[in-house]
Amino acid sequence: MIGNQLIDQYARNITDEKQHSVLNGSAAGTEKRYQVLHKDFENPDELRKLAASIKDHTLHHLGDYLAKAEQALVSRGVNVHFAATGDDAKQTILSILQGHGVTALTKAKSMAAEEIHLNPFLIENGIECLESDLGEFIIQLDDDIPSHIVKPIIHKNRREIAKTFLREGIAADYNDDPETITRRARVHLREKYMQAQAGITGANFVCADTGRMLLVTNEGNSRFGMAPSNVHIALVGIEKLIPREKDLSVFLNLLGRSATGQQLTVYTEFINGPKSANQPDGPEHMHVVFMDNGRTDVLASNCKEILRCIRCGACQNVCPVYRQASGHAYRSTYGGPVGAVLSPLLFGDRFPELADLPKASSLCGACNEVCPVDIPIPDLLLRLRDKAHREHIHSPAAIPMAPFATLATSPSLWRTAMTMSKAMNHLPIHVAPIKPLQDWLGQRTLPESHGGDFRKWYKARKADQ
Ligand code: SF4
Repeated sequence: MIGNQLIDQYARNITDEKQHSVLNGSAAGTEKRYQVLHKDFENPDELRKLAASIKDHTLHHLGDYLAKAEQALVSRGVNVHFAATGDDAKQTILSILQGHGVTALTKAKSMAAEEIHLNPFLIENGIECLESDLGEFIIQLDDDIPSHIVKPIIHKNRREIAKTFLREGIAADYNDDPETITRRARVHLREKYMQAQAGITGANFVCADTGRMLLVTNEGNSRFGMAPSNVHIALVGIEKLIPREKDLSVFLNLLGRSATGQQLTVYTEFINGPKSANQPDGPEHMHVVFMDNGRTDVLASNCKEILRCIRCGACQNVCPVYRQASGHAYRSTYGGPVGAVLSPLLFGDRFPELADLPKASSLCGACNEVCPVDIPIPDLLLRLRDKAHREHIHSPAAIPMAPFATLATSPSLWRTAMTMSKAMNHLPIHVAPIKPLQDWLGQRTLPESHGGDFRKWYKARKADQ
């Protein structure tokens, strides 16, 4: 878990600069998605419903498809590993690397790797591990954490990045032109690719029928990470399977459009396995680590639809809470609506305080409307709120609801409270009579109370009739 501030507290303390970066970046993403999706498809809803049904079918037969994928991958010369937990996955990857004598590697962007904090673990164990995605590279330089699934540095602007490059010696002078920043990163990273002995990636999809793996990027960094090195390791969440390679036509059409407003991501790489005898470059050894890390528990829960997620970030872009608060406010690898569901499910055992995340939503339904796999996120948020309530996991924000319920169900008490509420307009928050009420008020800006006005109006109206 990252930090311990509640979402509203975090949002209140966020700088204007950061808030503008998040708001502009996410609003632009939503607009581009809308234009390209509706330009190309008369009824995008049909496509996302089809994607949802393919994913549901796969999840329903996950064991069978995992076995099928394993067989197909092995027949291509890939070593397949299964990791029940994040720690198992980290240890498996470390022993593969040690077995091949790897001391330096490059890593492409992978949410699964973020989820288990793979990078710091490998560095602690003496392996130089360089992020090769531009956004993740900047995050690594700044010792920061990603705040968006697709755009990890959505919270930063180009001036901050230019300063980072200057500070870290990536650039000899300050220049915040985006193209210059990118060229400078490229020069730095190209050299590192040639020195690395292994490349780590995630996978966007694994086709169970053929054992081919799909990677999509806009920078081509994952192929640079694989081509010159001897070992390729792919860390893959078990929900990334799709039954047939031909199903990709559905998912690729949705992923690029939903994530970045592109018809297709710039680099769509089909990984066939390790280098074959007639290929001049590429890793001689390929390992796929299928990671569970709580996913089978999610599959058994009443929120299993979240496992359809293809990590496009569209729900983050459109969410009014995410836009105001940023991904960091969600205190976990996954921010925004997807994180408000996934984080308590995956990490709630260790961090019960994440149970407050499902409350960070107005339930406006925008996240469900944009989701390319039609995940009913608002319903899942309500189910998780109910679960937290039944399991008595209370965040400070939940405490005053019990007194509120008493007031709201008693007409006489409600009348008295409304009459008294005008006094609240003049009370400073810190004199609230009880600590939980202080905490609750500390996270909110209450509107000015006009307590009792409706009743007066209604009485007068009745008298006039
Ligand atoms: S929940 Fe849906 S919209 Fe959100 S990241 Fe996942 S696939 Fe994209």
